[in-house]
Amino acid sequence: MFVENNSYRPIEQGSNAVSIDMDLLQVGSEPVGLRCPYCQEDVMTRANYVRGRLTHLVAAVLAIFCWALCCCLVPYAVKRWKNVEHYCPRCHRFLGVYTRSSII
Ligand SMILES: [Zn+2]
Repeated sequence: MFVENNSYRPIEQGSNAVSIDMDLLQVGSEPVGLRCPYCQEDVMTRANYVRGRLTHLVAAVLAIFCWALCCCLVPYAVKRWKNVEHYCPRCHRFLGVYTRSSII
């Protein structure tokens, strides 16, 4: 009789993605002109709109009230409800993020 050989699984190391509160720049919802701390160039940040918790929240609310209109997909297309990540267009480093916390 065989003892089932448990497949060996290495213990997963804790996520390396430790959130570091480094000195991220104060950025808004639109691209901003600033000096990149990495490449020391005066640049206009490249804004990357990403879905955040608020995006899903708005989608969920709309899905409940307006499900027939399929407008639950609208939030995913509206910048207003997305978080905005800013990157340096020259060195492509992450400079900061603007997080939405309210719908308006
Ligand atoms: Zn840069």
